[in-house]
Amino acid sequence: MRRSIKAVYPGSFDPITNGHIYIAERAAALFDELMVSVLLNPQKKATFSIDDRQAMAREALSHLPNVKVNSFTGLLVDFLRQEHSRIIIRGLRALSDFEYEFQLALMNRQLAPDIETLFIVTDAKYSYLSSSVVKEIFHFGGPVHEMVPPGVYRRLRERFARPTMQI
Ligand code: ADP
Repeated sequence: MRRSIKAVYPGSFDPITNGHIYIAERAAALFDELMVSVLLNPQKKATFSIDDRQAMAREALSHLPNVKVNSFTGLLVDFLRQEHSRIIIRGLRALSDFEYEFQLALMNRQLAPDIETLFIVTDAKYSYLSSSVVKEIFHFGGPVHEMVPPGVYRRLRERFARPTMQI
């Protein structure tokens, strides 16, 4: 019997956007199981708590039966071993992502030569989309409802609820 193949899609997902969902959908179509793993990084101040980030991702990916969401902290390659996976999925937008992603992939290969990083290219319509862009546009009252799933839009409104903006 063929062993089932599991891939891990790690990231901050602060919050998950339609660009992340696109990558998860394509990866889910390639592997038996996809674990979307939210990074708890004590060095980096996140906008949303680890629980909120997982809840938003879980809700946004609930249409994909072979996708699960969890969280991790520490070295990614250690987490992959714990998950019995040898495949890291990352998304690529523009050339600007490449240098960072290349460095990360080489570092992870140095740490764990048997683990492979696979890149999935985004759709052109998401090439400008990132969690920080969404937060920035939302903050200034711009329309982000087409960039994120409804649950994220709702939480953004709750998180940044304020009466009127003071200048
Ligand atoms: P990081 O892990 O650097 O904190 P994110 O959580 O924002 O970054 O993203 C996780 C992964 O998803 C990264 O590989 C990133 O390049 C990719 N990604 C982010 N936004 C998009 C998008 N709009 N289209 C495709 N991939 C994306």
